[in-house]
Amino acid sequence: MQFTELNLAPALLKAIADKGYTSPSPIQEQAIPGILAGRDLMAAAQTGTGKTAGFTLPLLQLLSDGSKVQPNQARALILTPTRELAAQVAQSVADYSKYLPLKSTVVFGGVKINPQMMALRRGVDILVATPGRLLDLYQQNAVRFTQLEVLVLDEADRMLDMGFINDIKKIIALLPKKRQNLLFSATFSADIRKLAKGLVFDPLEVSVSPENSTAERVEQCVYPVDKGRKAALLTQLVLDNNWQQVLIFTRTKHQANKLSTHLGNVGINAAAIHGNKSQNARTKALADFKKGSIRALVATDIAARGLDIDQLPQVVNYELPNVAEDYVHRIGRTGRAGAAGHAISLVCADESKELAGIERLIKQSLPRETVPGFEPVNKVPTLPVNTKPYKPKKPKQKKFGPAGTARSNQSISKTRTN
Ligand code: AMP
Repeated sequence: MQFTELNLAPALLKAIADKGYTSPSPIQEQAIPGILAGRDLMAAAQTGTGKTAGFTLPLLQLLSDGSKVQPNQARALILTPTRELAAQVAQSVADYSKYLPLKSTVVFGGVKINPQMMALRRGVDILVATPGRLLDLYQQNAVRFTQLEVLVLDEADRMLDMGFINDIKKIIALLPKKRQNLLFSATFSADIRKLAKGLVFDPLEVSVSPENSTAERVEQCVYPVDKGRKAALLTQLVLDNNWQQVLIFTRTKHQANKLSTHLGNVGINAAAIHGNKSQNARTKALADFKKGSIRALVATDIAARGLDIDQLPQVVNYELPNVAEDYVHRIGRTGRAGAAGHAISLVCADESKELAGIERLIKQSLPRETVPGFEPVNKVPTLPVNTKPYKPKKPKQKKFGPAGTARSNQSISKTRTN
């Protein structure tokens, strides 16, 4: 299929051509006609599938036909779980709308609120936001939703994981009843379906990749190693393989800092991103990583969620995640858009249970590799893969403040991000 067959305006086709895309991705083929027809949508799609253009292109086309936006109003609201994802979606909106007379802006926590209030003053056609900051802006009368036509919830599963459910409900209650709703989620869990019930009306359901299929197009392996030898093994792997751009996951902010310092000390330019870093520091680290002046980016799960780094060749799990699904999200950072990717996991004996959980989720045994000199004293057992269906762990509901609600992204990242 060609983009020209999707009934998109010439201004959008020109912006698509500028991006160098030749044909629509499967999610775009399926979602764009339905959204243009005004349908609600429930889409199972992960980052890397082209989902952002899948909702942004038809959204821009719909908005370019409607009425002019009034001061402090937004005609479309795109909610995302993290600041990084918000910034990336906003960039896509800006790229695709460059030949259209539409205004857009992005708001998220961790940076000054005043410039965001100024940006909203004359109204915007598209507002990209994280939930906490959006509610703050609403309470300060900086934004109103009487003109709102479309709501997009991006990475809805992650929003629920991060405890945003109350904020999302509050925001939905502020919106006009008559509107178009587009819900994107990596998976349709029971919780997502529950959320969808009160949100979408007679939705078009599309699914572009079966659950956890990312795992199939990424070459993965495990290096069993003693805990105290992980940093040395990682250093050797980076140097021996001459990795120039490697994303490394740790479980805690402390470990991310410690490892980033260690890598710097052995001559591998590194930076850490996590919830305790200022927004500016995070944006700078990501930009430096993208342009190649930082070779290793060490991140916690939430900080890394949704990062769009084109053709990232190498992902390392320095520590396995607590929740097996996060493994799939992590390795989804590599092997984007069909390109081959590599993901390795440094696993110590303490992590055997997490490893078994991951293998059960992805329904495969991960090959083991060793580097001479790093054979573990404490062995990591290779168990047969448990073939019983994997049951997702229920995320713990955290309480934020007296009302028990998650109020701002900052409070979230302080409490939930490790
Ligand atoms: P997303 O899943 O929205 O995060 O997009 C993943 C990546 O795919 C981004 O870098 C997009 O720029 C890119 N992309 C989106 N649509 C297409 C397309 N039709 N052809 C090629 N690349 C695309």
